[in-house]
Amino acid sequence: MAKAKLKVILLRATPDPDEIVALGARLCYAQADVESLRERVEAKDQAAFVERVMERGHLSVTEHASFTFAVEGVSRALLAQLTRHRIASFSVQSQRYVSMADGFDYVVPPSISALGEDAEAEFARQMDQMHAWYCQWQEKLGGAGESANQDARFVLPNAAATRLLVTMNARELLHFFELRCCNRAQWEIREMAWQMLACCREAAPALFAHAGPACVSGPCPEGKNTCGKASEVREKCKNL
Ligand SMILES: Cc1cc2nc3c(=O)[nH]c(=O)nc-3n(C[C@H](O)[C@H](O)[C@H](O)COP(=O)(O)OP(=O)(O)OC[C@H]3O[C@@H](n4cnc5c(N)ncnc54)[C@H](O)[C@@H]3O)c2cc1C
Repeated sequence: MAKAKLKVILLRATPDPDEIVALGARLCYAQADVESLRERVEAKDQAAFVERVMERGHLSVTEHASFTFAVEGVSRALLAQLTRHRIASFSVQSQRYVSMADGFDYVVPPSISALGEDAEAEFARQMDQMHAWYCQWQEKLGGAGESANQDARFVLPNAAATRLLVTMNARELLHFFELRCCNRAQWEIREMAWQMLACCREAAPALFAHAGPACVSGPCPEGKNTCGKASEVREKCKNL
């Protein structure tokens, strides 16, 4: 049993994501056939096409590029939030097929760590206690195996760490970053979203040039709930 650490890896992306989106954009507005369009798009700087089409709100072309991430060291609390995003595909480590009898890693909220070593140690003891309850139920329900695991897991905490794959297309990612990179989003999913955005920026600089929370490309939509840190957030986004 150990404190989990967030890890985000961009496993796969559509090859040349900016280029395929630029091709889609050109195709909509040109008479030329695909081969000649392709030559033209390959030869030119795609950023301008991508920028123009996105400015016009013609976002369906961004759906041609998709991105698959591996994420580890995140809590089941994060999982519940992430899977609310419906235009995404997920594979998540199962608590039914995978026994936690040997223990589970867990995410410690920074607010608890900030209280000091004693608080972290108390949190760790509570995790151990839950693990002991899990093992007791697993034993009573017939020992490690699908049917015992699936019910013993009811005493596991939201802090229990999990690992997953998530695939989203660029349109969904732009939406996801708008919501989840925002300071109003919960800290854990926000941290993950920023790491995902950094990966996307590298893989597709044009597509994700203006990605980030809403305040990066316009006024903050949060009204009286605004964090009031739009310029700080814009700076963070610029230097990502
Ligand atoms: C700060 C914050 C606080 C939140 N608090 C809560 C909370 O207290 N309780 C709670 O339940 N949830 C909460 N959520 C989750 C939120 O309500 C959404 O479920 C989640 O952010 C997914 O966003 P989405 O539905 O826009 O996008 P996605 O599911 O990612 O879909 C993307 C877009 O596709 C379109 N779309 C997808 N499915 C449909 C559909 N069936 N019909 C029409 N259009 C569709 C919509 O335009 C949608 O915006 C919170 C989210 C944030 C960021």
